[in-house]
Amino acid sequence: MDSLEALRWQWEMGATDFIAATPRDWMWVEESKKQDSKMQEKQESLAILPFAPHQLVPLSGITDLEALRAALQNFDGLEIKKSATQMVFGDGVPNPRVVVIGEAPGADEDRIGRPFVGAAGKLLDKMLAAINLSRATNSYITNVINWRPPGNRQPTPQEIALSLPYLQKHIELLAPEFLLVVGGTSTKALFNIEQGITRARGQWMDYMLPDGKVVPALITFHPAYLLRSPAQKALAWRDLLALQSRLAKTG
Ligand code: URA
Repeated sequence: MDSLEALRWQWEMGATDFIAATPRDWMWVEESKKQDSKMQEKQESLAILPFAPHQLVPLSGITDLEALRAALQNFDGLEIKKSATQMVFGDGVPNPRVVVIGEAPGADEDRIGRPFVGAAGKLLDKMLAAINLSRATNSYITNVINWRPPGNRQPTPQEIALSLPYLQKHIELLAPEFLLVVGGTSTKALFNIEQGITRARGQWMDYMLPDGKVVPALITFHPAYLLRSPAQKALAWRDLLALQSRLAKTG
């Protein structure tokens, strides 16, 4: 393994901070200043490594969903693309009232190429239908991550960071009235909040579009979690009613 590979490996394993190979004598000011500037140079050159592929993709010129789909299809910055069957972009109407943001495709989505088509997707469709929403008429569904992570593992922070600009562009192009953010991964990706999903659910957040317009975003449980913990459906139902009430006021 050469040193570049070793660094990349550390980055992929989640290392975000770098320590010096030798202990620092903090009393020796001149020496520590020199080390400071050396470390800074090292950190600067390291920090851009994992983000270089994304930086080559200019998203600002993208003005429609098909162009975004093509840009994402050409994006080679994620290893999970190699193990996935296909990209899972999004599903729904192009001018939705609500955009649902999930985590990542699972096995069924990977096979079919559409988000939320497995068991969790069937529950999500029922949840939406209960408040008169559907991907066929007035909603749109996508994920933070567009390729299935192998074995349905959680996406890594690096995968999320690399995917986020595409998700933000996706939301910007759809410009919905509301976001419904399902589960902890998408909540953390969009809002970087400390609280876990149990505390965060039911909260409304402000998601800001590049033009400064705010899209109110409601956080709720992920349908896959509700399948495992059906007792929590009562809380999810409360969240859906809150969304329905906001939709009724604007629609
Ligand atoms: N879970 C998700 O978060 N997204 C999907 O598309 C399917 C399951």
